[in-house]
Amino acid sequence: MGNYRFFQNKDCEYFPCHKGIPEEDFNCLFCFCPLYSKGQNCGGNFEMTKNNVKSCMNCARPHKRESYDVIMDILRQDLP
Ligand code: SF4
Repeated sequence: MGNYRFFQNKDCEYFPCHKGIPEEDFNCLFCFCPLYSKGQNCGGNFEMTKNNVKSCMNCARPHKRESYDVIMDILRQDLP
């Protein structure tokens, strides 16, 4: 069940793919985080690997039920 702001795919073998969010609130809408391209300005808690790759393993921000509007607002902001 879902809508354009909240969607769950419980058939996915990785569901829920991030820790720290109650399963009923886990939002699959941003499976590929649209904030990745914001780099340091994404607002999430990423880490940089030794190969200088952004690792989002511990970030749960895009998967919160209420994140749609927050993420769309950040996406609309220009990079400095
Ligand atoms: S750290 Fe979080 S908010 Fe930032 S790009 Fe990764 S998943 Fe998205």
